[in-house]
Amino acid sequence: MTKFAQTRSRIDSLLKSTVQLITLQPMPSVNHHFPDPAVRRKFQQRLLRWYARHRRDLPWRKTSDPYKILVSEVMLQQTQVDRVIPKYKEFLRKYPTLEELAGASVSDVEATWRPLGYNIRPVRLHAIAQQSVHRHGGKIPASLEELQTFKGIGRYTAGAVMSFAFRQDAPILDTNVKRVLQRVFLGPRSANGSKSPKRLWELSAALIPKGKAYDFNQALMDFGALICTARKPNCPACPMQPLCLSYPWDKNNTRCQKSSRSSR
Ligand code: SF4
Repeated sequence: MTKFAQTRSRIDSLLKSTVQLITLQPMPSVNHHFPDPAVRRKFQQRLLRWYARHRRDLPWRKTSDPYKILVSEVMLQQTQVDRVIPKYKEFLRKYPTLEELAGASVSDVEATWRPLGYNIRPVRLHAIAQQSVHRHGGKIPASLEELQTFKGIGRYTAGAVMSFAFRQDAPILDTNVKRVLQRVFLGPRSANGSKSPKRLWELSAALIPKGKAYDFNQALMDFGALICTARKPNCPACPMQPLCLSYPWDKNNTRCQKSSRSSR
């Protein structure tokens, strides 16, 4: 083989292996909506500082019992906190443990639930209790995947149970959290459109400070309920002003003040 042919052959082989490498490596997924680390850190700090001063005193924040936390989360689906508090206390007085709920009759559980509404919930909660007793040794499983195998536990409730009961860094995305993340990180126009839930879930996960999902997720929910509310967000008192792409909130959602980021 001539010197030229040898060089040519080496180049061909190099090109071939490069093409193979490019073909085999999965492309990293790029999400342009992730905040940069500095913005993320400021959001975390401001939110947690705000929460330390304004957190709501809620009974399910005084327990780490996964069963009690699950009861509160199921009750809070589609229901206002004020209506849930007395029923939560009454329900747990009657069924203080998973076993006691599993051993009760469904009709009794349904009667205790009234008048909270959305009455498939007590039936499902009762079924979850029975399945946990029979299949999981009387315990609520500490796994995001297993939790979602129960009817009545979706991704939000599973994330809430994982972060509030098992102290795992699991994200949550309910209506309040979705609204806050959209307004702060995606801007006013996004609040009117249907942004991909996948992106918002990724954003919610990316924002959690390591090891602090419990406080961070509780804080996000309180912030959405007390400051960045659906109809009348309290922008003048909001600690996110310098970071928020929707500040100041315009109820017609016509403004997009990207320049507000520069004054962080
Ligand atoms: S500045 Fe206004 S829109 Fe932005 S997070 Fe705060 S309350 Fe919500």
